[in-house]
Amino acid sequence: MLMIGGCDSASTPPGGPEMMVYEAARKRMVRDQIAARGVKDDRVLAAMARVPRHEFMPASQRPLAYEDGPLPIGHGQTISQPYIVAFMTAALDPKPEDRVLEIGTGSGYQAAVLSGLVAEVFSIEIVEPLALRAKADLKRLGYGNVRVRVGDGALGWPEAAPFDAIIVTCAPERVPRTLVDQLKVGGRMIVPVGPTGGAQELYLLRKHPEGMETQAVLPVRFVPMVKDR
Ligand code: SAH
Repeated sequence: MLMIGGCDSASTPPGGPEMMVYEAARKRMVRDQIAARGVKDDRVLAAMARVPRHEFMPASQRPLAYEDGPLPIGHGQTISQPYIVAFMTAALDPKPEDRVLEIGTGSGYQAAVLSGLVAEVFSIEIVEPLALRAKADLKRLGYGNVRVRVGDGALGWPEAAPFDAIIVTCAPERVPRTLVDQLKVGGRMIVPVGPTGGAQELYLLRKHPEGMETQAVLPVRFVPMVKDR
Protein backbone atom coordinates (compact mmCIF):
# COMPACT_ATOMS: atom_id res chain seq x y z
CA MET A 1 0.00 0.00 0.00
CA LEU A 2 1.32 3.44 -0.91
CA MET A 3 1.46 5.72 2.09
CA ILE A 4 2.21 9.40 1.80
CA GLY A 5 2.94 11.32 4.96
CA GLY A 6 1.64 8.41 7.04
CA CYS A 7 -1.89 8.87 5.74
CA ASP A 8 -3.63 6.27 3.61
CA SER A 9 -7.13 7.67 3.80
CA ALA A 10 -7.57 7.51 0.04
CA SER A 11 -7.46 3.71 0.09
CA THR A 12 -9.00 2.91 3.48
CA PRO A 13 -12.69 3.71 4.05
CA PRO A 14 -13.86 5.03 7.42
CA GLY A 15 -13.99 2.18 9.90
CA GLY A 16 -11.63 0.08 7.81
CA PRO A 17 -12.15 -2.87 5.46
CA GLU A 18 -13.45 -5.09 8.27
CA MET A 19 -16.37 -2.73 8.85
CA MET A 20 -17.19 -2.82 5.13
CA VAL A 21 -17.31 -6.61 5.21
CA TYR A 22 -19.65 -6.56 8.21
CA GLU A 23 -21.84 -3.92 6.59
CA ALA A 24 -22.18 -5.94 3.40
CA ALA A 25 -22.99 -9.08 5.41
CA ARG A 26 -25.62 -7.12 7.32
CA LYS A 27 -27.27 -5.91 4.09
CA ARG A 28 -27.43 -9.50 2.85
CA MET A 29 -28.86 -10.60 6.19
CA VAL A 30 -31.66 -8.03 5.93
CA ARG A 31 -32.45 -8.95 2.33
CA ASP A 32 -32.18 -12.75 2.44
CA GLN A 33 -33.16 -13.66 6.01
CA ILE A 34 -35.58 -10.91 7.01
CA ALA A 35 -37.25 -9.09 4.10
CA ALA A 36 -37.44 -12.34 2.09
CA ARG A 37 -39.37 -13.96 4.97
CA GLY A 38 -41.97 -11.22 5.01
CA VAL A 39 -40.86 -8.53 7.49
CA LYS A 40 -41.93 -5.37 5.65
CA ASP A 41 -41.62 -2.51 8.15
CA ASP A 42 -39.04 -0.17 6.56
CA ARG A 43 -37.98 1.37 9.88
CA VAL A 44 -37.31 -2.09 11.32
CA LEU A 45 -35.38 -3.20 8.23
CA ALA A 46 -33.29 -0.01 8.42
CA ALA A 47 -32.57 -0.60 12.12
CA MET A 48 -31.49 -4.19 11.40
CA ALA A 49 -29.18 -2.88 8.65
CA ARG A 50 -27.71 -0.29 11.00
CA VAL A 51 -27.01 -2.06 14.30
CA PRO A 52 -23.61 -3.82 14.39
CA ARG A 53 -24.68 -7.27 15.65
CA HIS A 54 -21.05 -8.46 15.73
CA GLU A 55 -20.28 -5.89 18.45
CA PHE A 56 -22.65 -7.68 20.84
CA MET A 57 -20.94 -11.07 20.82
CA PRO A 58 -17.70 -12.64 21.99
CA ALA A 59 -14.84 -12.18 19.49
CA SER A 60 -14.86 -15.90 18.69
CA GLN A 61 -18.46 -15.67 17.42
CA ARG A 62 -18.05 -12.52 15.32
CA PRO A 63 -17.41 -14.21 11.97
CA LEU A 64 -20.86 -15.83 12.41
CA ALA A 65 -22.60 -12.61 13.45
CA TYR A 66 -24.74 -12.27 10.33
CA GLU A 67 -25.55 -15.96 9.86
CA ASP A 68 -29.14 -17.21 10.00
CA GLY A 69 -29.28 -18.51 13.58
CA PRO A 70 -28.97 -17.85 17.31
CA LEU A 71 -25.44 -17.66 18.83
CA PRO A 72 -24.05 -18.32 22.30
CA ILE A 73 -23.19 -15.24 24.39
CA GLY A 74 -21.94 -17.07 27.51
CA HIS A 75 -23.66 -18.07 30.77
CA GLY A 76 -25.70 -20.64 28.82
CA GLN A 77 -27.61 -17.88 27.01
CA THR A 78 -28.02 -16.97 23.36
CA ILE A 79 -28.54 -13.95 21.14
CA SER A 80 -31.66 -14.65 19.06
CA GLN A 81 -31.69 -15.37 15.32
CA PRO A 82 -31.74 -12.05 13.38
CA TYR A 83 -35.07 -12.92 11.76
CA ILE A 84 -36.70 -13.47 15.16
CA VAL A 85 -35.33 -10.13 16.44
CA ALA A 86 -36.76 -8.37 13.36
CA PHE A 87 -40.07 -10.24 13.52
CA MET A 88 -40.61 -9.44 17.21
CA THR A 89 -39.57 -5.81 16.74
CA ALA A 90 -41.98 -5.34 13.83
CA ALA A 91 -44.78 -7.08 15.77
CA LEU A 92 -44.43 -4.43 18.51
CA ASP A 93 -45.24 -1.73 15.93
CA PRO A 94 -42.67 0.64 17.53
CA LYS A 95 -43.37 4.39 17.37
CA PRO A 96 -40.77 7.17 17.83
CA GLU A 97 -42.45 8.41 21.03
CA ASP A 98 -42.80 4.94 22.64
CA ARG A 99 -41.29 3.79 25.93
CA VAL A 100 -40.51 0.09 25.72
CA LEU A 101 -39.72 -2.56 28.33
CA GLU A 102 -37.56 -5.56 27.40
CA ILE A 103 -37.25 -8.66 29.57
CA GLY A 104 -34.00 -10.57 28.94
CA THR A 105 -31.30 -8.06 27.94
CA GLY A 106 -28.83 -10.85 27.07
CA SER A 107 -26.23 -9.28 24.79
CA GLY A 108 -28.08 -5.96 24.48
CA TYR A 109 -28.55 -6.42 20.73
CA GLN A 110 -32.36 -6.41 20.74
CA ALA A 111 -32.30 -3.31 22.95
CA ALA A 112 -29.94 -1.62 20.47
CA VAL A 113 -32.30 -2.41 17.59
CA LEU A 114 -35.20 -0.89 19.54
CA SER A 115 -33.09 2.10 20.62
CA GLY A 116 -33.23 3.76 17.20
CA LEU A 117 -36.96 3.14 16.77
CA VAL A 118 -38.43 4.43 20.04
CA ALA A 119 -37.87 7.16 22.64
CA GLU A 120 -36.70 5.00 25.56
CA VAL A 121 -35.84 1.37 26.24
CA PHE A 122 -35.86 -0.19 29.73
CA SER A 123 -34.26 -3.63 29.78
CA ILE A 124 -34.04 -6.17 32.62
CA GLU A 125 -31.57 -9.07 32.81
CA ILE A 126 -31.40 -11.61 35.63
CA VAL A 127 -27.77 -12.73 35.06
CA GLU A 128 -25.67 -9.91 36.49
CA PRO A 129 -22.49 -10.36 34.39
CA LEU A 130 -24.60 -10.34 31.20
CA ALA A 131 -26.43 -7.20 32.30
CA LEU A 132 -23.13 -5.45 33.10
CA ARG A 133 -21.57 -6.43 29.80
CA ALA A 134 -24.63 -5.37 27.79
CA LYS A 135 -24.75 -2.08 29.66
CA ALA A 136 -21.08 -1.41 28.84
CA ASP A 137 -21.49 -2.39 25.18
CA LEU A 138 -24.61 -0.22 24.74
CA LYS A 139 -22.76 2.72 26.29
CA ARG A 140 -19.61 2.15 24.21
CA LEU A 141 -21.69 2.06 21.01
CA GLY A 142 -23.66 5.19 21.91
CA TYR A 143 -27.13 3.79 22.61
CA GLY A 144 -27.90 6.49 25.17
CA ASN A 145 -31.66 5.91 25.50
CA VAL A 146 -31.35 2.34 26.85
CA ARG A 147 -31.38 1.63 30.60
CA VAL A 148 -30.37 -1.79 31.88
CA ARG A 149 -31.22 -3.20 35.30
CA VAL A 150 -30.31 -6.48 37.01
CA GLY A 151 -33.35 -8.32 38.32
CA ASP A 152 -36.30 -10.62 37.73
CA GLY A 153 -38.11 -9.35 34.67
CA ALA A 154 -41.36 -11.00 35.75
CA LEU A 155 -41.70 -8.12 38.22
CA GLY A 156 -41.39 -5.53 35.46
CA TRP A 157 -40.11 -2.01 36.08
CA PRO A 158 -42.90 -0.44 38.19
CA GLU A 159 -41.32 3.04 38.51
CA ALA A 160 -41.17 3.44 34.74
CA ALA A 161 -44.56 1.83 33.94
CA PRO A 162 -46.87 1.95 32.08
CA PHE A 163 -45.17 1.06 28.78
CA ASP A 164 -46.32 1.44 25.18
CA ALA A 165 -44.78 -1.92 24.36
CA ILE A 166 -43.20 -4.89 26.16
CA ILE A 167 -40.92 -7.45 24.52
CA VAL A 168 -40.06 -10.64 26.39
CA THR A 169 -37.06 -12.55 25.02
CA CYS A 170 -37.12 -15.51 27.43
CA ALA A 171 -40.04 -17.92 27.73
CA PRO A 172 -42.33 -17.96 30.78
CA GLU A 173 -44.80 -20.84 31.14
CA ARG A 174 -47.60 -18.29 31.13
CA VAL A 175 -47.76 -14.55 30.55
CA PRO A 176 -46.79 -12.78 33.80
CA ARG A 177 -49.80 -10.83 35.09
CA THR A 178 -47.51 -8.07 36.42
CA LEU A 179 -46.28 -7.34 32.90
CA VAL A 180 -49.81 -7.13 31.53
CA ASP A 181 -50.58 -4.63 34.30
CA GLN A 182 -47.57 -2.50 33.26
CA LEU A 183 -48.82 -2.15 29.68
CA LYS A 184 -50.72 0.99 28.61
CA VAL A 185 -54.16 0.72 27.08
CA GLY A 186 -53.36 0.56 23.36
CA GLY A 187 -50.04 -1.13 24.23
CA ARG A 188 -48.56 -4.23 22.60
CA MET A 189 -46.66 -7.14 24.13
CA ILE A 190 -44.75 -9.88 22.31
CA VAL A 191 -43.85 -12.92 24.43
CA PRO A 192 -42.82 -16.55 23.82
CA VAL A 193 -44.88 -18.83 26.05
CA GLY A 194 -44.44 -22.52 26.80
CA PRO A 195 -42.60 -25.17 28.78
CA THR A 196 -38.78 -25.36 28.89
CA GLY A 197 -37.49 -27.38 25.96
CA GLY A 198 -41.04 -27.99 24.76
CA ALA A 199 -43.24 -26.36 22.16
CA GLN A 200 -43.42 -22.62 22.65
CA GLU A 201 -45.55 -20.14 20.79
CA LEU A 202 -44.88 -16.46 20.27
CA TYR A 203 -47.93 -14.48 21.38
CA LEU A 204 -48.84 -10.94 20.40
CA LEU A 205 -51.04 -9.29 23.02
CA ARG A 206 -52.89 -6.00 22.62
CA LYS A 207 -54.44 -4.14 25.50
CA HIS A 208 -57.82 -2.66 24.60
CA PRO A 209 -60.07 -0.64 26.93
CA GLU A 210 -62.35 -3.68 27.10
CA GLY A 211 -59.60 -6.24 27.71
CA MET A 212 -56.69 -8.19 26.19
CA GLU A 213 -56.53 -9.51 22.65
CA THR A 214 -54.19 -12.49 22.27
CA GLN A 215 -52.87 -13.90 19.01
CA ALA A 216 -50.43 -16.80 18.48
CA VAL A 217 -48.08 -15.63 15.73
CA LEU A 218 -45.11 -18.04 15.43
CA PRO A 219 -43.79 -21.30 16.92
CA VAL A 220 -40.41 -20.56 18.56
CA ARG A 221 -37.76 -21.87 20.95
CA PHE A 222 -36.39 -19.52 23.61
CA VAL A 223 -34.42 -20.04 26.82
CA PRO A 224 -36.77 -20.23 29.83
CA MET A 225 -37.68 -17.25 31.96
CA VAL A 226 -36.08 -18.18 35.27
CA LYS A 227 -37.16 -17.00 38.71
CA ASP A 228 -33.99 -16.67 40.76
CA ARG A 229 -30.52 -18.12 40.93
N1 SAH B 1 -32.66 -10.16 23.94
C1 SAH B 1 -31.35 -10.81 24.06
C2 SAH B 1 -31.43 -12.31 23.99
C3 SAH B 1 -32.08 -12.85 25.18
S1 SAH B 1 -31.67 -14.49 25.67
C4 SAH B 1 -30.38 -10.31 23.03
O1 SAH B 1 -30.73 -9.47 22.20
O2 SAH B 1 -29.21 -10.72 23.08
C5 SAH B 1 -32.73 -14.50 27.08
C6 SAH B 1 -32.19 -13.73 28.26
O3 SAH B 1 -33.22 -13.72 29.25
C7 SAH B 1 -30.99 -14.40 28.92
O4 SAH B 1 -29.92 -13.50 28.96
C8 SAH B 1 -31.47 -14.77 30.31
O5 SAH B 1 -30.50 -14.67 31.31
C9 SAH B 1 -32.60 -13.77 30.53
N2 SAH B 1 -33.59 -14.11 31.53
C10 SAH B 1 -34.09 -15.34 31.85
N3 SAH B 1 -35.00 -15.23 32.83
C11 SAH B 1 -35.09 -13.91 33.14
C12 SAH B 1 -35.86 -13.16 34.08
N4 SAH B 1 -36.73 -13.75 34.92
N5 SAH B 1 -35.71 -11.82 34.13
C13 SAH B 1 -34.83 -11.19 33.30
N6 SAH B 1 -34.07 -11.85 32.39
C14 SAH B 1 -34.20 -13.19 32.31
